[in-house]
Amino acid sequence: MQIKIDGITDDRLHRPLQNIANLFFEECVLAYGETEEPSDLVISLAISQDADSVSVSGEIKGTGEKEHHTKPLLAGWSEKEVFKQVKNTLSYVYLNLLQSHTGMTQKWGILTGIRPTKLLHKKLQSGLTKEEAHADLKKDYLIHDEKINLMQEIVDRQLAAVPDLYRVKDEVSIYIGIPFCPTKCAYCTFPAYAIQGQAGRVGSFLWGLHYEMQKIGEWLKQHDIKVTTIYFGGGTPTSITAEEMDLLYEEMVRSFPNVENIREITVEAGRPDTITEEKLAVLNKYKIDRISINPQSYENETLKAIGRHHTVEETIEKYHLSRKHGMNNINMDLIIGLPGEGTAEFRHSLDETEKLMPESLTVHTLSFKRASEMTRNKHKYKVADRQEVSRMMDDAVRWTKEHGYTPYYLYRQKNILGNLENVGYSFPGQESIYNIMIMEEVQTIIGIGCGAASKFIHPETGKITHFANPKDPKSYNDRFEHYTEEKIKYLDEMFVKSAL
Ligand code: SF4
Repeated sequence: MQIKIDGITDDRLHRPLQNIANLFFEECVLAYGETEEPSDLVISLAISQDADSVSVSGEIKGTGEKEHHTKPLLAGWSEKEVFKQVKNTLSYVYLNLLQSHTGMTQKWGILTGIRPTKLLHKKLQSGLTKEEAHADLKKDYLIHDEKINLMQEIVDRQLAAVPDLYRVKDEVSIYIGIPFCPTKCAYCTFPAYAIQGQAGRVGSFLWGLHYEMQKIGEWLKQHDIKVTTIYFGGGTPTSITAEEMDLLYEEMVRSFPNVENIREITVEAGRPDTITEEKLAVLNKYKIDRISINPQSYENETLKAIGRHHTVEETIEKYHLSRKHGMNNINMDLIIGLPGEGTAEFRHSLDETEKLMPESLTVHTLSFKRASEMTRNKHKYKVADRQEVSRMMDDAVRWTKEHGYTPYYLYRQKNILGNLENVGYSFPGQESIYNIMIMEEVQTIIGIGCGAASKFIHPETGKITHFANPKDPKSYNDRFEHYTEEKIKYLDEMFVKSAL
């Protein structure tokens, strides 16, 4: 699919136009200026702007479809605010043109970002009432009531789970990335290396990880910065041995300040094939009772097709084993739209979930991420179409509601089937605080270990700075000291200098 766009000379507007086109068409190329290939659609857009307002007119050539929209520009706005208004007005016209041309409705309107709830938090924090904020979302972003209500429900739950959500900016959360898994899944783009035969590399990696924990912990103690949550992810953090886990948590307790007061510690035990009684005993020893066990699907054939190398029976068995060994807050992930799966298979997954009733359930929609094996071999994997994906999503919404779960975080992804969202549901009071922190970007998250991304959020200005540790264990093992130093520089910048 190729769309030719006439009338847009500012390169900064190309990306929003592309993002909106992606909501309508699977593989869509936008062309500006002269093209050799014939285009499927030609859209002309014209922006006119004066001191008080911006207007955009648009037309799909040869169809008679036209749109026009004007928005105000307020005195005293910065250049950035003016540009945002121009971009939103253009997106508004362009979205309406594509909606009327394709007959498709985009319930998220012109919003293509991955964190819709952050926008609502911002509006409420600025002093708008719920009604005013909702009216803005509807008018400026064309978001439908159904999605606005979902956003509000999530925002309310987050504020109930973390009443000081708008004040936790002076604390930090910690993400610890362990980049090993029993085998690599086909849809995976996480830093995950098959652990078999890697003993030497795992040992050096853990050495680096302990070092990072000590240094970061030292800094936090020195500056009296509290830790809100700790999350062990990866990879699969339970793919290392029970002894290695024991030493790691011992390091955590020794290095980080007041671990007994940390609001939540989670360990991803995503792959059921890594869970053993011995490892559960280690979790008990450190009073960690929140883990994730991820079935993804309850069809053995699907698990095989995506390379997970564990069975449905094993997921269920390990779930019960974890319960027996004191895991009181278990999250389970399901993925909608796995290859070969439709409504029947997803309903079966929900029926099986009903027998287990984990405290939280995260429903992902399959996304073809650029680096995954599935994307490289897209032709090999048969996946459901948009309508079916949307029906499965509706099933998830209905099922969770009927079973006492409420949504507490959501994020959208690029290339997500049917332009839907990933939603975390939980029983009220069992929300993952870490997930709320990362999703709403309310505080700094320090990433430690392989592939761990740090996000430094300036406590005063809210400015976000990203910093990533290397994804592969070899580069990490070679330079972990350097990455630790860099993070400490950022922390000084954010917390020490801003306090002067
Ligand atoms: S278990 Fe998770 S991190 Fe590991 S390979 Fe599979 S999807 Fe990737």
